[in-house]
Amino acid sequence: MKTMESVPASTLTSMRCGGVIARLFEPESGEELQGLIRAPAGFHLLGAGTNTIFADTTIHTPVIRLGPSFDFIETVDGGLRAGGATHVKKILSRCVKDGLTGMEFMAGIPGTLGGALAMNAGTAKKGIMEVVREIEAVDASGPRTIDPSSLPWGYRRGGIEPGTVVTAAVLALEPSTTDEVRARILEHLEKRRNQPRGPSAGSVFKNPPEAPAGLLIDRAGLKGTRVGGAKVSELHANFIVNDEGASATDVAALIALVKRQVFDRFGIELHEEVRFIGQ
Ligand SMILES: Cc1cc2nc3c(=O)[nH]c(=O)nc-3n(C[C@H](O)[C@H](O)[C@H](O)COP(=O)(O)OP(=O)(O)OC[C@H]3O[C@@H](n4cnc5c(N)ncnc54)[C@H](O)[C@@H]3O)c2cc1C
Repeated sequence: MKTMESVPASTLTSMRCGGVIARLFEPESGEELQGLIRAPAGFHLLGAGTNTIFADTTIHTPVIRLGPSFDFIETVDGGLRAGGATHVKKILSRCVKDGLTGMEFMAGIPGTLGGALAMNAGTAKKGIMEVVREIEAVDASGPRTIDPSSLPWGYRRGGIEPGTVVTAAVLALEPSTTDEVRARILEHLEKRRNQPRGPSAGSVFKNPPEAPAGLLIDRAGLKGTRVGGAKVSELHANFIVNDEGASATDVAALIALVKRQVFDRFGIELHEEVRFIGQ
């Protein structure tokens, strides 16, 4: 198991800000993972950090990120089995190569399979929990297999219990052709052209039932609003970008400002999709 000390949070997250992680552990087996989960210090679990922001402080609670042995893909009957640390992009490349359809809607969503399942990542219409057939996980009591239909998943919520780490999952995919899968992935990527390219954590807020969060933020006239180095993207109002060396404090202040102004203007409360640790 690799153990690192005093790791800058900016190197672990796509928002590229935050303080220092006192101890980062990368377990390579279920046993090592279980040992960390059972330690009295508790833990924060990290995938690729594309939906996570660490506060501008030292995070003393150990952070666990699955090691490279959890990064694998194999063919199984009716789909693919992939490790929790495997990047979604890599799974999509395999889908293209093997001509397997069902995951194309995930194109352009960064992060790991474990993170995607925890967040039920996807589009407004579909989340990855609709594709997963079986989840392998480790918690304090050991390894277990989870039937996804037993989980209370919903919009941007995988329903996986806190303290449970996804180590692998089986994705149910249908046979297609390389050309068709590639074409559908390109269609989905095309729809993402309005997304900013700089450091961000993707959509900051969940869409409330009334209207898309980005539309509300735009209508509140907040595009381009900044706090320090953090800015509401002019391309997509639900993105906050780290424009000029933003601190996590800048990002948190901008999130609070947006929530206040959208509530004052429309009476609608926005809820964060991004996970803020150490605030
Ligand atoms: C440019 C950009 C575009 C994005 N577009 C979208 C989009 O269209 N749709 C969408 O849904 N999201 C989107 N996101 C957000 C983000 O990519 C997803 O939420 C992604 O699935 C998070 O994966 P991650 O590995 O980075 O998770 P992290 O940010 O590292 O963690 C997110 C959550 O998952 C948990 N977690 C991580 N690994 C595991 C594991 N192995 N087992 C259990 N829990 C785990 C963490 O504890 C945390 O609660 C976007 C982000 C960016 C930067």
